[in-house]
Amino acid sequence: MSLAENTNISIEKIAKSRIDSIDFENLKFGTTFSDHMLVCHYKDGQWGDVQIKPYGPMSFEPSINVFHYGQAIFEGMKAYKDSNDDVWLFRPRENWKRFNKSAERMEMPQIDETRFVDGLKTLLNLDREWVKPGQGNALYLRPFMIGTHPGVVAGPSSEFMFCIICSPARTYYSGKVKVQIAEHYSRAANGGVGYTKCSGNYAGQFYPTKLAQQKGYQQVIWTDDATHTKLEEAGTMNVFFRIGDTLITAPTSERILDGVTRKSLLDIAKSKGIDIDVRTIVVQELLDAHAKGELKEIFGAGTAVTIGQIEGFAYQEKFYSLPEIADENSFAVQLKNSLQGIQQKTVEDIFGWTE
Ligand code: PMP
Repeated sequence: MSLAENTNISIEKIAKSRIDSIDFENLKFGTTFSDHMLVCHYKDGQWGDVQIKPYGPMSFEPSINVFHYGQAIFEGMKAYKDSNDDVWLFRPRENWKRFNKSAERMEMPQIDETRFVDGLKTLLNLDREWVKPGQGNALYLRPFMIGTHPGVVAGPSSEFMFCIICSPARTYYSGKVKVQIAEHYSRAANGGVGYTKCSGNYAGQFYPTKLAQQKGYQQVIWTDDATHTKLEEAGTMNVFFRIGDTLITAPTSERILDGVTRKSLLDIAKSKGIDIDVRTIVVQELLDAHAKGELKEIFGAGTAVTIGQIEGFAYQEKFYSLPEIADENSFAVQLKNSLQGIQQKTVEDIFGWTE
């Protein structure tokens, strides 16, 4: 990881690291945080200096925008380490670009690459002990921005806080999941905010996901809001379908998040000569392919798990199981191994994705 020169970052180090109190073998995703965080405030039409300081509570007036009108966006990405103690990021500039797309849609200020990427690298360098080497180990990074101007006036905030926190994570094989195809609820609509990582997108998914879980399905496959026929995302992941030997995924749109994992998998699949079809796929096609025995695999793709295999789906109260597939014949397993190999630098990064 090369670090750009940046003189506008102030660093206040923690008095005593908390790292010795952490059980890195038994981490619950997203619940443990590293020693430091990055904070930067936007006021009077500009961003201030980047501050790195000990992770800890913050205090705000109860009337600030985010508590009432929800101007809030975030990103999710990971840092990795090898046994030589080198630390790197996977495609961080894709997350920076997407963050700014979210900011634009949510009427929040753009943030420059220096504050986002170089700030992140400086933070990472300070907390590098929190990145553990080895398969499945990573430091999950959570940049976010909230509207911080006080006042319960339904309008955009004029003040914002950009912050990055870091959470050590281990990717465990969590098994295949069962999903339910959404027939009523939607996570996104035409003209809406589905392509952004605004916080409300996620809050709006909790209730329909709970209903699906009560029926025994771990996730929802989201369909388009207008017809509930187009298959769009799986939980908080993009979704891929393998029919015959063709890998199909929906094109990104204003309803679908432009996932970094999704686009990386498409490039890897192309390089492996896998037949790819980026197009709209509808429920009936899935049912027909299943009836003909041609539906071989479905999987979700996202930063947290890379690839999450799906064992079957429910639609109109009926459950459709996918066939058992040996790892060596599975596109999901092949692609997951290649992507994780690049991310962990055990496979050559021919794409130049790590930095
Ligand atoms: N879709 C949604 C709705 C998501 O929240 C995520 C996770 N950021 C993804 C897809 C996958 O995106 P990425 O591969 O960039 O993590």
